Amino acid sequence: MNKISSQHDIGNYYGYPKCCIKDFEKILQRPNNLQCKISKHSGFIPCMICCQLIIKDKIKIEDLIQNRICKIPFPNGTGGKKYIHNLK
Ligand SMILES: [Zn+2]
Repeated sequence: MNKISSQHDIGNYYGYPKCCIKDFEKILQRPNNLQCKISKHSGFIPCMICCQLIIKDKIKIEDLIQNRICKIPFPNGTGGKKYIHNLK
């Protein structure tokens, strides 16, 4: 079976944090207004804890994306190259 089967797998594939994946599973794809605003239609819905950090300017949404398997840089599909990190 090749297809990605769960939100968890999808989240891992895109490098989303575990807390946000868990939260996303829990809310069953019904993010609240704040989460929608933070997400900016990037396809990634941060959990409320991460949303708060973003609002307080402690982190940027891009900072949450780690160990991404997907070759397309975040946000999905824009083709931007500004989020490619230096590989050591
Ligand atoms: Zn989170």
